[in-house]
Amino acid sequence: MNVLVINAGSSSLKYQLLNPESGVLLAKGLCERIGIDGKFTYKAAGKAAKDAADVPMPTHAEAIQAVMDALTDSENGVIASMKEIDAVGHRVVHGGEAFNQSVLITDEVLKAIEDCIPLAPLHNPANLTGIRACQKVMPGVPMVAVFDTAFHQTMPPRAYMYALPYEYYEQDKVRRYGFHGTSHKYVAGRAAAMLGKKPEELKIISCHLGNGSSVTAVDGGKSADTSMGFTPLAGVPMGTRSGDLDAGILQYLMNKYGLSIDEMLNILNKKSGVQGVSGVSSDFRDLTSAFEKGNERAGLAVDMFNYGVKKLIGAYAAAMGGVDAVIFTAGVGENSAEQRMAIASGLEFMGVKMDAEANKVRGKEAVISAADSRVKVLLIPTNEELMIAMDTAALVK
Ligand code: ADP
Repeated sequence: MNVLVINAGSSSLKYQLLNPESGVLLAKGLCERIGIDGKFTYKAAGKAAKDAADVPMPTHAEAIQAVMDALTDSENGVIASMKEIDAVGHRVVHGGEAFNQSVLITDEVLKAIEDCIPLAPLHNPANLTGIRACQKVMPGVPMVAVFDTAFHQTMPPRAYMYALPYEYYEQDKVRRYGFHGTSHKYVAGRAAAMLGKKPEELKIISCHLGNGSSVTAVDGGKSADTSMGFTPLAGVPMGTRSGDLDAGILQYLMNKYGLSIDEMLNILNKKSGVQGVSGVSSDFRDLTSAFEKGNERAGLAVDMFNYGVKKLIGAYAAAMGGVDAVIFTAGVGENSAEQRMAIASGLEFMGVKMDAEANKVRGKEAVISAADSRVKVLLIPTNEELMIAMDTAALVK
């Protein structure tokens, strides 16, 4: 079975063609500058990447058509015809409270995704455009929507409610939704497989640490709490996002500098986080090298990030009444042995004991805690596309 996984943005579209049973990746690529001129990059597994520069892409439909042409190309293609694509899985950012799992796309589902646009005004419209373009180019092929928020719909009210007047929840749906759900679900599933346990038997803390970061408590296979909130701005400090802060700061700074709320939010989303604190970069590699050259603020930014993650591990262990495994994933979690060590050290009191040698690994599944560590610490590369393909396959069968 072949599943085409689509992640559509407003002017871009990422795709992968995967076999969900074997996990084999057949081809992947990226369409950029849709609606401007169009830039197309295509890579078939085991072959060199190809830049097909001049593919006009006035809309997402031409982009999908270019993907089809590349996948079925007689020279560089990986399938003979579009008939070899059994289903399409679409990443959709926000499913609100309407979706607690992936679903086959119908007209009602499209309407419900539309209804979630106020919750994700930049992302959901782009995701919908991607779905409609695919339906146009690939009529009759079953399509599935996989939501970033769905995995977190199992959180209990005490975890997802904000202590605001209740009507803001009832009327306006203001609550914690959480994001990165597809990633947390994937790595939690892999952790259970690595430990030879059923997901129901495990209390897991999953740390997705990348440009955007979130930490999730997964109790018995279900999300019990997560650090991102109503929007992805909440939680630990990120590349350029502030993470949690005292809302009183907004009033203070907006009054003092005459900022509009949009200007203020732009600062919190794009100019804060480790970028804002360091003044150097949002990329942790740059921060580490700047710190090694003596830049104290770069060191402080990384320290604040690591401390934020560590505090959440403690908080979620308390929330679940224990923890069996801690997972590190995404760009920082998969690559930075130093940050994994900084986050996990000092947690010996709760049964976390790292193995410094085992931790010297990057980008592959590994147990990085000591043999006698009560809590297993795992490095698990995330694979959101494979998770989307697996969910899609399960619904189409
Ligand atoms: P995104 O949220 O954009 O998907 P990724 O999960 O790809 O992000 O993570 C990107 C981040 O991973 C980069 O900003 C970089 O800081 C970090 N990263 C990648 N490699 C390393 C490394 N070797 N050491 C530390 N950080 C790294």
